[in-house]
Amino acid sequence: MTSSLRAAPALVARFGDVLLRHQAAIRRLQWVMVALYAVLLTVPLLLPLPTHTDYVWSNAVRFAQFVFWGVWWPFIILATALVGRFWCGILCPEGALSEFASQRGAGRAIPGWMKWSGWPVVSFVSTTVYGQLTSIYQYPRPAALLLGGSTFAAIVIGARYGKVKRVWCRFLCPVNGVFGIVSKIAPLHFRVDPDSWRIGQQGRSNAVNCAPLIPIKTMQGASACHMCGRCSGYRGAIRLCWRNPASDIVHGSGRLATMWETILIVPVLLGLVPAALHWSDSGLFQVIRLWLVERCLDLHLVWPLSLRLPWWILTDYPLENDVMTSVDAVALLTLLSASVTAATLMFGIPLAACARILRMKGGFSHHLTQALIPLAAACLFSGLLSLTVSQLRSDGVVIPYSDQFRGGIILAAAAWSAALVFRIGVFYDTRLANRVLATLIMAVPITSFSIAWIAAFLS
Ligand code: SF4
Repeated sequence: MTSSLRAAPALVARFGDVLLRHQAAIRRLQWVMVALYAVLLTVPLLLPLPTHTDYVWSNAVRFAQFVFWGVWWPFIILATALVGRFWCGILCPEGALSEFASQRGAGRAIPGWMKWSGWPVVSFVSTTVYGQLTSIYQYPRPAALLLGGSTFAAIVIGARYGKVKRVWCRFLCPVNGVFGIVSKIAPLHFRVDPDSWRIGQQGRSNAVNCAPLIPIKTMQGASACHMCGRCSGYRGAIRLCWRNPASDIVHGSGRLATMWETILIVPVLLGLVPAALHWSDSGLFQVIRLWLVERCLDLHLVWPLSLRLPWWILTDYPLENDVMTSVDAVALLTLLSASVTAATLMFGIPLAACARILRMKGGFSHHLTQALIPLAAACLFSGLLSLTVSQLRSDGVVIPYSDQFRGGIILAAAAWSAALVFRIGVFYDTRLANRVLATLIMAVPITSFSIAWIAAFLS
């Protein structure tokens, strides 16, 4: 091993210690992020909506939209996949405000209902659908309502429950589940060494405040860890270090995967998300909408075609020639439901078949479903990147090879997901033929989905 390779793990571990030593600086950075977030959320509310002659670089509303949806979200997802949840622990304004409120709050015990493991799915799905119904990417008011409402709820939860904790982030944050899934492929994590922990004689031993309430001693993988660095070096047992990006899925927390993680990966990230990010360009949406309009006309029902609802229920900007009628909303919800159903069947049936071939218990394997995480993460990132590309394109800025780049990411992730099926299979069936057969079966939906998704954003 060369000296530079030997130095890499030590350097990474040292970075974890740097985070620990500079917690005060991290707090200050978080307040800068809070101020930036507040400005981006509120200033556009005070300004008129942009016209077609306004650009990202000349109009504050367009600029805020671009920062939120063109930079902030896609690159948080990318960063989470590349380095873990540093965003959550170091930069997230919502988490920082929730913890700040918790420091001074009532410190009550966390109620049982809040610990329900379905919240990450329910909150992500409801905010995604509501965001589409109100055109959150286009207008400042729904963005302020949804993001500001989420931040307000985070502060209230922080002020009521836990002491210097991030109860909101751990249990209710709408993107907690998605970040947890995506971070499983990150090559960085805080590793806990059980032997060193048992001995516990090296390193510091003063108590650690793990704000997202992780039982650090038994922590599996990096899914729930916010990478804040506060536990770095604790008992000489915790270190920031590199890992094989597949290791958590194949050997670690992937083996303990739950039904809710499967729901988040298949129907949500591979079904709901592509449709939610692409519905306005979808031919199927137009077909459904036309069919509904014809049925309304057949039945002499005019109100579903003309009824306008407030902007906080359905998009309502008549001066922009942008109004979502009840028929549009039903067509959108039908499209989203169809996409969720299609993804569930498309991946669920082959997954069940593979579970039988590999003789997995119960006829279905949540562990095997984790093989789809690279594809799901790539789908989310490339979909959000469409917002970046389209916003810049509308201002005359064309990013060369952006479509090829997104297509390449999808194809690489698809190949990785297929390879993970093969690697996970060995835990359940050592016969090579069965593992190859399972991989080939899963390659069918993985390839079909990838081609369809690439075709969607190339169209
Ligand atoms: S385990 Fe907790 S304290 Fe340690 S880095 Fe992760 S979030 Fe921070």
